Amino acid sequence: MSAREAMIALARRMNAAGLNQGTSGNLSQRVEGGFLLTPSGMDYDALEPEDIVLMRLDGTHEGRREPSSEWRIHRDVLATRPEVGGVLHAHSMFSTSLACLRRPIPAFHYMVTRAGGVDIRCADYATFGSEELSRHVLGALEGRRACLMANHGMLAVGDSLASAYRLAVEVETLAAMYWRALQVGEPVLLEPEELARVLDKWKTYGQTASPRD
Ligand SMILES: [Zn+2]
Repeated sequence: MSAREAMIALARRMNAAGLNQGTSGNLSQRVEGGFLLTPSGMDYDALEPEDIVLMRLDGTHEGRREPSSEWRIHRDVLATRPEVGGVLHAHSMFSTSLACLRRPIPAFHYMVTRAGGVDIRCADYATFGSEELSRHVLGALEGRRACLMANHGMLAVGDSLASAYRLAVEVETLAAMYWRALQVGEPVLLEPEELARVLDKWKTYGQTASPRD
């Protein structure tokens, strides 16, 4: 499967997983000479490999489609975070609902640390597609692999697009849990010492065990 085909398959999985709302999600993957990006406003079911846009880090692009209107965020993340290989942006229901309240996701559950720190921040609001929005997102992503975006959505990154996807599913699950817990009361937050312990555990988790374990 080519990189473009794999990207389309993942985009369709976003729909099936409920991450995507309409045509509002977008994906990018680093490749030689730049990155591949989903096109602007196209239904993922109709996507063909030639619809995926090849962009360079200088913001120019080639292909038969216009790139996603959020190309700046993808470009800026990939240009400033060399460890990142894939970026996913979506308007998923629970992450976006919290983002509309401008509420970050605190350490109400230990899995919040999967995004790289003690919370999942909410980036300040700016108009979609703007440089200002990209700056806000980069700030909220500092030391993290995911953030919410005020009155807009969420974003997750990974060393590959597949890992960005897995993290996005995790963030949306956490947002849904946090949302539900808030219906009943104020969730108890984990202490900084415990979060430090969990963050430390992730450094070896899943890497030391053999495939059969
Ligand atoms: Zn968006």
